[in-house]
Amino acid sequence: MSMCDCLNNKDLIKGQKRLRIAIQKSGRLTEDTEKLFKSAGIQFELNKNHLLSHAQNLPIDILRVRDDDIPGLVMDHVVDWGIVGQNVLEETMMQRATDGLPIAYKEVMKLNYGDCRLSLAIPQEMQWNGFECLEGKKIATTYPFLLKRKFKELNINIKTVMLTGSVEVAPRAGLADAICDLVCTGATLAQNGLKEVETIYTSKAVLIGRDQELYPEKQATADLIIPRLKGVMAAKESKYIMMNAPKDKLLQISSILPGAETPSIIELEGCEDRVAMHVVSREKLFWETMEELKKLGATSILVVPIEKMLD
Ligand code: ATP
Ligand code: ZN
Repeated sequence: MSMCDCLNNKDLIKGQKRLRIAIQKSGRLTEDTEKLFKSAGIQFELNKNHLLSHAQNLPIDILRVRDDDIPGLVMDHVVDWGIVGQNVLEETMMQRATDGLPIAYKEVMKLNYGDCRLSLAIPQEMQWNGFECLEGKKIATTYPFLLKRKFKELNINIKTVMLTGSVEVAPRAGLADAICDLVCTGATLAQNGLKEVETIYTSKAVLIGRDQELYPEKQATADLIIPRLKGVMAAKESKYIMMNAPKDKLLQISSILPGAETPSIIELEGCEDRVAMHVVSREKLFWETMEELKKLGATSILVVPIEKMLD
């Protein structure tokens, strides 16, 4: 066996053992993705200039690429997992289907970040009378497939102008009559003299995987990591609530706590009619709820963030 064959074999075996995950190199999904991985105990260097980083403590490799390339890398089996917005995933799938490329993947889990909407926006001075007023008009977008699908459903003819950036300047530049772009707050639209009129697609980040069985070593890593990622997301939404409460109000108190699990009740020394109550609540706790708890006789109410959860 030549030296070269040895190296190839070694790389191949390494490739079979380490779970390879593609993430956005730098952009709106990057920070949240890195935070999620860090909280799940995946330690890797944060140097964005490295295309491939090896996790130091787990058999995981992180591939940093443009978000647009992530669905294709998963569907072409170059990586095992990828994190991408549903908008990019669906758009790429339609594009690939048109090009006759494979589009199979599986959704490993939805993530709790990357929320945005794909909306239609028109110049502020233009009157909006529903989708029909765009009949025959030019719409600039980065998502021509999602846009065309919507207007096909509506049976309205439009022309699409494909732009990969600065879509919001298209109407002013005379390139299009309207735009279809991702919106979060709408501030960019307003700055460009546009108003949002309809949302055609809502999106969040998803973790997708190749539609194929993983090698056993990679599957073992996936089985370890999935509950951790879910645990990190569940913890973010959850709170640990502690209070002292009158025994005869415990039922009422439990019923107003949002998404609460069965509480632990702890006797308070030298106190007959009051107990300490500890409970994990799966939802955000608003000031209004805390004030209601107080009205029911609860005291020393503490709401504590949870760092990790494993069900
Ligand atoms: P890349 O250089 O990787 O191609 P990009 O400019 O295409 O980056 P970003 O603007 O970083 O992409 O957005 C990446 C994804 O983040 C979007 O496809 C979308 O799913 C999501 N996203 C979340 N919030 C927003 C927002 N306010 N505006 C745009 N996209 C958002
Ligand atoms: Zn992109």
